[in-house]
Amino acid sequence: MTTGSDINFSAQAQTLTFAPEGTRKSIAAHPERPGISLVIPVYNEEENVELLYQKILDAAEKLNRTWEVVLVDDGSKDKSFEKLEKIALKDSRVKLVRFVRNFGQTAALAAGIDHANGSIIIPMDADLQNDPADIQMLIEKLEEGYDCVSGWRKNRKDGLVLRLIPSWTANKIISVISGVSLHDYGCSLKAYRREVLEGVRLYGEMHRFVPIYASWMGAKVTEMPVNHYARQFGQSKYGINRTVKVVLDLITIKFMSSYLTKPIYIFGSAGLWSLAACAASFTWMCILKYGYDTSFIETPLPVLVSMFFMVGIQLILMGLLAEILVRTYHESQDKRIYTVKKKVNLD
Ligand code: UDP
Ligand code: MG
Repeated sequence: MTTGSDINFSAQAQTLTFAPEGTRKSIAAHPERPGISLVIPVYNEEENVELLYQKILDAAEKLNRTWEVVLVDDGSKDKSFEKLEKIALKDSRVKLVRFVRNFGQTAALAAGIDHANGSIIIPMDADLQNDPADIQMLIEKLEEGYDCVSGWRKNRKDGLVLRLIPSWTANKIISVISGVSLHDYGCSLKAYRREVLEGVRLYGEMHRFVPIYASWMGAKVTEMPVNHYARQFGQSKYGINRTVKVVLDLITIKFMSSYLTKPIYIFGSAGLWSLAACAASFTWMCILKYGYDTSFIETPLPVLVSMFFMVGIQLILMGLLAEILVRTYHESQDKRIYTVKKKVNLD
């Protein structure tokens, strides 16, 4: 599994060019690209993969577009890969990537996106909980002029206490903190224009935040109710602890988006508040001593004065260190701190 909750927050890093309003109606057919890439992480789904392929065939036939499916075997210990390989040998639209070991769903998705060639990229689960028949609807929505359409499992078929309630709470928190209001960030079935994903790096459980990230970058994001089915074969790979990781990831991206280029603002202001608390405690201590004849050692104020002083100075110094790190981070990798919406007469 992947650990850590950092994101290479390429909001600062990449130069994305979104089509301006009004010009992004249809997704241009590209001579060398398939119209659609489905991207599917697979981990121990041997009972599902064959049926999944059938369902994809049924749905893709109706799409009237060229397509490919990139399946990433995330170190399955069962026969998933062997079964997929059999399919791929017969159907060249089926592309396979196999990991040496289990790296987690986000890593598998990232690898799938890296290997996908389509003009539209559609991530999905391998366990048949999503319905490939919904793809058509997502693409139509995308063509109305959106850059990302996120699935919403309105009728989600998962356990109430361990899945639905934590997920409902997490979704609310994410909406408030990110300012991008979607009902269901965790739904794997989403549709993206290729440009939205170019240069995006995923870490931790970050794949669910791509719509937020895209929206911050200026993409038009919307959501649509999609089908959801109970898992019939195999087991879910997650439990309640995912919610904790998701919330920590969210704090990271919020920090990255708001303060990555100016960490001294967050450390420095906390430091200054601490120094202010130090000054207030000190003044009060002196008033008590000289106005009311209360000895210094009768109150906890001297301890507070020194504590607030040290914490304040430490925070400010940490902020300065963070500033140096951030400069190294950007400059060593030649990362930009802005994103361009459009260029004229320039490559
Ligand atoms: N998955 C993966 N690597 C993992 C865990 C899960 O590739 O370490 C895949 C899994 O095979 C499925 C998708 O990610 O296609 C979602 O996993 P799961 O169904 O267990 O999650 P849930 O639907 O219960 O949230
Ligand atoms: Mg599932």
